[in-house]
Amino acid sequence: WQPFSESVQAFARHQWQAGPIINGAAVIDSGNTVAVTAPYDRRESVGSVTFASAEQVNEALSIAAQSYQQWSSRPAAERAQCLLRLADLLEDHTGELVALCHREAGKTIQDSIDEIREAVDFCRFYANQATEEFSQPKPVMGFDGTTRQLSYQGRGVFACISPWNFPLAIFLGQVSAALVAGNTVVAKPAEQTSLIAFRAIELMLEAGVPAGAIQLLPGTGAEVGAPLTADNRIAGVAFTGSTETAQRINRSLAARDCEPVPFIAETGGQNAMIVDSTALPEQVVRDVVRSAFASAGQRCSALRVLFIQQDIADRVIGLIKGAMAELSVGRPELHSTDVGPVIDATARDKLQTHIQSLKNQATLVAQASVPVSCQHGDFVPPSAFEIPSIDILKNEHFGPILHIVRFKASELDQVIDHINQTGFGLTMGVHSRNERTYSHIERRARVGNCYINRDQVGAVVGVQPFGGQGLSGTGPKAGGPHYLYRFTQDRVEA
Ligand code: NAD
Repeated sequence: WQPFSESVQAFARHQWQAGPIINGAAVIDSGNTVAVTAPYDRRESVGSVTFASAEQVNEALSIAAQSYQQWSSRPAAERAQCLLRLADLLEDHTGELVALCHREAGKTIQDSIDEIREAVDFCRFYANQATEEFSQPKPVMGFDGTTRQLSYQGRGVFACISPWNFPLAIFLGQVSAALVAGNTVVAKPAEQTSLIAFRAIELMLEAGVPAGAIQLLPGTGAEVGAPLTADNRIAGVAFTGSTETAQRINRSLAARDCEPVPFIAETGGQNAMIVDSTALPEQVVRDVVRSAFASAGQRCSALRVLFIQQDIADRVIGLIKGAMAELSVGRPELHSTDVGPVIDATARDKLQTHIQSLKNQATLVAQASVPVSCQHGDFVPPSAFEIPSIDILKNEHFGPILHIVRFKASELDQVIDHINQTGFGLTMGVHSRNERTYSHIERRARVGNCYINRDQVGAVVGVQPFGGQGLSGTGPKAGGPHYLYRFTQDRVEA
């Protein structure tokens, strides 16, 4: 931790600049340039970013389309080598990247370190998987009993559209999977974290990915993302972000006058945890507080709705109050900080509006305070409310707000069904010492990842892949055995 906190100091005044990267050339300061400031203190300048113009979107797509044959015909192992070199470069630049994640995205030092670790893991995992699985065709039986060769190749130009909450890991996870599978890529990072994406693509070019294979288009969803997904040259889309945006992209792809293409969407959740009366209250509270408030509640896996069995509800809620009184909200580089800022003023205002509306229809359990020293940043006080029913939550509230619902033992199946009926299916947590109960919940819950007797945070690339069902995503899970295949087309040689 110490060396990284020193690198945050070393880059404390650094100003980064970013813009589109087209055919290997960065286009900076060519017009539509916006200032980037730190989420924890808007008076602090971090640099500036030039957003892509409509002409640049078109140019990037043309170059990516022209470069496809050359890149896809390279052996998978050669493409993978570029990712392995990128992973090494990311490690070499960890200090700068930690500073960048911290200053542009407002992440704590530990979250920033985890972020870079995960990005490195994605690059190595997909590189190794592609080398093992796509280097040689696989023998299959033909109709006439002879052996035929099954091979995998890229599909064309992939659009990779990513969110700000994992600005390096998810961004590079998508891009590296698409590239190593043999596609060329046009990448559109979240507008809030363009500097991080820009630095990642600079390192990718340094690692040997050819200039034609990867194009970067910073900009807003409306101005850059939408025209990208409406374009017939796109042969597939990898998207991570809100369910609403995924639905918009789905409609845009369906309206195109060309062949249908794969759409890999990893989206939002209404993640619940169920706690029965056999659970250990102290352990529950530790895991609830971490699941709901770590990363200021801005993890897609974060706990939003806690269902507590009536018999232990008073005790658990009392302990939650106590734990929340200890939560320290503050600048994310401080070791003592538990909860940092949210990503921007838009997110802050939306969350504040939700807190205000809950005050009219729910009971405030606890609210941590935001110190005066944070007044120039976008902070939201971590808050917990007892609500009458999950039905009052129509959308995902992507921040440090916990909703609590009590239930009776006889209502367990109704609770699970109620959670399933939200249509979301990303994560669920269970706290119970009764094996029959937690196995029953795990089987009946319609979610991608179920966490038992632990916090609801975390995925491990290649070990515990992550992804949702229903409104939470199409699958296959990122970092899992099937993800790369969605970026390929398979062909049996005659
Ligand atoms: P968002 O949907 O607002 O934006 C995601 C990306 O889509 C951004 O790059 C944005 O510019 C782009 N975009 C917006 N409108 C577009 C359009 N019409 N066409 C094309 N692109 C468009 O999401 P966000 O606020 O950046 O991220 C937070 C959301 O991401 C939360 O809902 C969270 O749950 C979800 N998320 C899910 C996972 C997962 O693995 N399931 C992981 C991380 C985040």
